Amino acid sequence: MLCILLTGASHAYQADYKEMIEKYGQVPEAILEPPVEETIAREKSSLLNRIFGSNSGRYSIQARTKACYANQRIALGAIEMYNMDNATMYKNLVYSDIADSSGLLVTGKYLRSPLYQVEPGCHLRSYGDLSDTGIIYCDYHGCLPEDRDGLRAAAGYTPKAHASGNNSDNTMVLVLIVLGVLAVGVMIILHNVLPKAPSS
Ligand SMILES: [Zn+2]
Repeated sequence: MLCILLTGASHAYQADYKEMIEKYGQVPEAILEPPVEETIAREKSSLLNRIFGSNSGRYSIQARTKACYANQRIALGAIEMYNMDNATMYKNLVYSDIADSSGLLVTGKYLRSPLYQVEPGCHLRSYGDLSDTGIIYCDYHGCLPEDRDGLRAAAGYTPKAHASGNNSDNTMVLVLIVLGVLAVGVMIILHNVLPKAPSS
């Protein structure tokens, strides 16, 4: 069992990502730019976190991402075992097959229990043929980091993560400008209101 799981994990490391793209076509956006990365970047650079240095939000996002990666490894291991036992290979992941108690890989005892959904946007899919070098990814958390980096490099893709840091700097400047304008506004109001007080 453990051996099979290890084989399942290691076949991804040896993957030829350029060949995968030639065989399976365009890499899904959720692999190249998983939505969770933007959430982490936003959390990292949010005004409150910058002022108070709180990282707790970011850590729990990372913990959920790791839980999703663990689900992806378990699903891939189960599919590898299924493909060893069955003449008809399992190629494209149907989420209900691993997430529902009546799912194919659950009823076939390739999974001890249905995989739990880490958070609402978390939905596993496959890129390519899972009986060959295809991989599993999540709509929200993307795929395992080694596959993501390999596919980004093979596709010549530059991640957007750095750009969002600049945006938050702009947001900070904007907030300061708005605060400045408000302060001037308050001074003008006070200036108009206060001198009138003695005359009444
Ligand atoms: Zn996920």
